[in-house]
Amino acid sequence: MHFGELDIQDVPALRADGLCRDAIDFFVGNPKLRLIAAVDAAGRPAGALTRSKIISKAAGQFGRALYDARPLAEFLDPPRFVVGTDQKVADIANELAATDLTNAPDGYILVDHLGRYAGIVDGLSVLRALLKLNMALVNELNSEVAVRGAAEKEARRLADTDALTGLNNRRLFIEEADRLVQHGSHAWLIYVDLDRFKYLNDRYGHAVGDDALKVVAGRIHEWRNDALIARLGGDEFGILVDATGIAVGLEEELLRLHASLCAPFLSKPGAVSVGASIGAAEFPGDAATRPEWLHAADKAMQRAKSDHGGVRLFDPTLDIAQARHARLKESLPAAVSQNQIRPMFQPFYSVASGQLAGYEVLARWNGPDVGFIPGPDEFIPLLERLGLIDEMFWGIAEQALLACRHMPPHQKVALNVSPIQFANRLFPARLAALASRIGVQCSQLEIEITETAMFRDMTHTVSVLRDLSDMGMSIALDDFGTGYSSLTLVKELPLTKLKIDKSFIQSAQHSPSSEKIVSAAIGLSQALNILCCAEGVEDVATLERLRGMNCDLVQGFLLGRPAPNLVENPGEAFSLAG
Ligand code: C2E
Ligand code: CA
Ligand code: CA
Repeated sequence: MHFGELDIQDVPALRADGLCRDAIDFFVGNPKLRLIAAVDAAGRPAGALTRSKIISKAAGQFGRALYDARPLAEFLDPPRFVVGTDQKVADIANELAATDLTNAPDGYILVDHLGRYAGIVDGLSVLRALLKLNMALVNELNSEVAVRGAAEKEARRLADTDALTGLNNRRLFIEEADRLVQHGSHAWLIYVDLDRFKYLNDRYGHAVGDDALKVVAGRIHEWRNDALIARLGGDEFGILVDATGIAVGLEEELLRLHASLCAPFLSKPGAVSVGASIGAAEFPGDAATRPEWLHAADKAMQRAKSDHGGVRLFDPTLDIAQARHARLKESLPAAVSQNQIRPMFQPFYSVASGQLAGYEVLARWNGPDVGFIPGPDEFIPLLERLGLIDEMFWGIAEQALLACRHMPPHQKVALNVSPIQFANRLFPARLAALASRIGVQCSQLEIEITETAMFRDMTHTVSVLRDLSDMGMSIALDDFGTGYSSLTLVKELPLTKLKIDKSFIQSAQHSPSSEKIVSAAIGLSQALNILCCAEGVEDVATLERLRGMNCDLVQGFLLGRPAPNLVENPGEAFSLAG
């Protein structure tokens, strides 16, 4: 806004060489004006006079007589508030802000572009104009702030969102967990960790992995759209659910979620699937603080993971298990280096002849300083994680081969090998060298592998197995039925034996589906022309059923428990032979 646009009082200026009377007459005649300019001969402001200065002195009855004839120049102030008509009002704002507003100027003397007097602008109208300008400025500022706020909010939302799945990120998840704890809410914190995700990624490429993550995100959302769902990292998801909204019980609901996550979905290579390990902890039941809560849910999830997937709710015994775990981790390295881990031998028999067919070597820990002796299921995974499994293997393999070196040639010694060990390309050669040094034929060696071995690096694993097989060793696929193996997988591997997992053998009696799996596995081994071994045979009825199904080999407590020595009289067939 320019001064020229304001309400200009187009009053004539006084002449600077005039008399005081002119000023007095002016203010009397223009009661609203509080400032008058005096100009020189060229019409340029030479001085200014305010009403307050002259009227108080001269307006009274006697004042006029005293002052009227005095030269005006005696009363003039220098012309301070001179502004051009094309000057911006806003430009004097700073000047004004520096002065005390109670002494706001009585007015402004306007000059044209040549510096000649052009009128008076009332000080208040200038203030009013400034105020209006300020309001506009404030409004502009406000809307600018609003726009920026919205942009910041959007930026924050984007930063808090996982670009691939559109879910929240870890930061927001933690913030929400904090909020629930602070409010003393009753809620569940759930961790979902995918199984076989890495395999999917490695085998089919990242696009398929991305598909899996998106499908999982969608399915979690479908499961409970009232939950806060976050992707916490790679293949790990977090869910926060209000516990009061869960009617049936969380475990059941999570089983439903688990089933939906494991269902196959369509991607580029066709139908693919992932597994999931789900752990959950309740606030305030399982934890008092947010870190404790996260920790509890994580422990539950880890437990589900070590149970090969599924659902696990936190319970305090997991804590005890963890303490034990920590103790084991400490004593294991010494246990391995001091050969505290020894082989036990469990015999397996031919069903048809009742003859001893060989032994499976099972690791046992005989530690002097471990208060309890954990089973291999507890220490083998730990050894794998500690990178000690290979060292342990060579320790018990040597002891086992020494014990078996006088075995008749048709009997076998079966060694469990962890898939990690296949990373070493020299594994077959080293095993052959050990056998030859001790005097055991390669043809007497059997290697037991689980299907998890295949998920690491299929081509590599197959080539290591081929080497073992070429050296004359047998290869058994262990725990058959519990993994994910496809028929093609079984066909491609140089297998000589399928070992049906004991869970099927033991439940076959009561479960028709287990019975079918057992008979299908036996059928499969016959079709592939390899042997079939049933493990976990604990009673005669089971043995007889297996015999009826033409199972080749049996192993189990009924026939012999794992023992530190070989069977005393191997010539004797087991007494139940038909
Ligand atoms: P696995 O290879 O499936 O071994 C068979 C397990 O079933 C052994 O448990 C054995 O004691 C048990 N078992 C045998 N017959 C029966 C029966 O009739 N009823 C029941 N209920 N169980 C029976 P163990 O010795 O506790 O070994 C557990 C697992 O630990 C093994 O399962 C194997 O996966 C692993 N493992 C054991 N030794 C070694 C080893 O030297 N190296 C590696 N990598 N893993 C090993
Ligand atoms: Ca085994
Ligand atoms: Ca097994």
